[in-house]
Amino acid sequence: MAVRSVFDSGVLRSEFEKAGINTHFIPLIWKHVLQNPNSEFNEVPSLPSAAYPILNSKFKFSTSTAHSVLESLDNVTTKLLIKLQNGSFVEAVIMRYDSRLGTCAGKPRSGGPRATLCISSQVGCKMGCTFCATGSMGFKSNLSSGEIVEQLVHASRFCHIRNIVFMGMGEPMNNYTSLVEAIRIMTGFPFQQSPKRITVSTVGIIHAIKKFHDDLPSVNLAVSLHAPRQDIRCQIMPAARAFPLEKLMDALRVYQKNSQQKIFIEYIMLDGVNDGEQHAHQLGQLLEMLQVVVNLIPFNPIGSLSDFSTSTDKRVVSFQKILRGSYNIRTTIRKQMGQDISGACGQLVVNLPVKGPLESSGLLTDIEDLRV
Ligand code: SF4
Repeated sequence: MAVRSVFDSGVLRSEFEKAGINTHFIPLIWKHVLQNPNSEFNEVPSLPSAAYPILNSKFKFSTSTAHSVLESLDNVTTKLLIKLQNGSFVEAVIMRYDSRLGTCAGKPRSGGPRATLCISSQVGCKMGCTFCATGSMGFKSNLSSGEIVEQLVHASRFCHIRNIVFMGMGEPMNNYTSLVEAIRIMTGFPFQQSPKRITVSTVGIIHAIKKFHDDLPSVNLAVSLHAPRQDIRCQIMPAARAFPLEKLMDALRVYQKNSQQKIFIEYIMLDGVNDGEQHAHQLGQLLEMLQVVVNLIPFNPIGSLSDFSTSTDKRVVSFQKILRGSYNIRTTIRKQMGQDISGACGQLVVNLPVKGPLESSGLLTDIEDLRV
């Protein structure tokens, strides 16, 4: 068996249980690892003696390395290229934003500097969305819970991470067990991320949505709807054939009834495909009975990988106006970030080499809240 990440909690827990070691020691080990990344398991204090040989022979502080870092020209987006122990690469993107910028109802906004980390859950993705660079890679492998958590560990070296979104490479709900395990680690000691500031984005894996709230209460759900009709969804998201829109909407209604949480709807704006006034009305009618926030995402060109074009600003704004004005649906337009380093939505695909070793990147200070 390959050496596992110490954050692969299921494996670590079962090794401890087999040896009769109390699993309550596990978070204390994690605390030591986070505070002393260059130490060794033998230096973790006060563990039962049987724990040390298990840790030393079967686990590592980190199975992945932050191979390189790329910063956007505007300095608000940082992309980490992370090398896994099997030689594959995934990307994690830090987005920074000052939520005090601008005004709200004529008054200064509250808040402050924010950092959002966009995490990958798989190497590649099998959903094949035609507007997405990751989809063009095909599916390579699932990440373990430890490999998912390690992205947070690497990113935290740059700045304090306030929000986490599972919107990087992969469909998180297709790696459900690791997803749940990773989020439970992130929200427990010593990470203590707020579940309310974690968002999992899915193309609409219905059977996973049905159990999501029970497994991860308070964690936010975002659905990449991208079209108000099944035929258009199938055209741009082939995987939608397995998840009919009507059944997806039923699952969302049940989810909202049980969770009482609003749902984030992601909608990529593709010129001439899904960005017309009629689409805005169809979307409004589809969502009217739910509590949602719609996030309109201007399409990021992915070179020769796709034939789509970006909707004009005028069309995006008009789409937003219809949802707001006719259906009273809170609708935001996602700010474009990190396009120059392919760190924007739908652009995550591993490109080697990238410039700049991690050591030369320096610490970052400002930050962003992606969601609204
Ligand atoms: S948009 Fe998400 S689900 Fe679709 S191919 Fe890309 S990574 Fe996979």
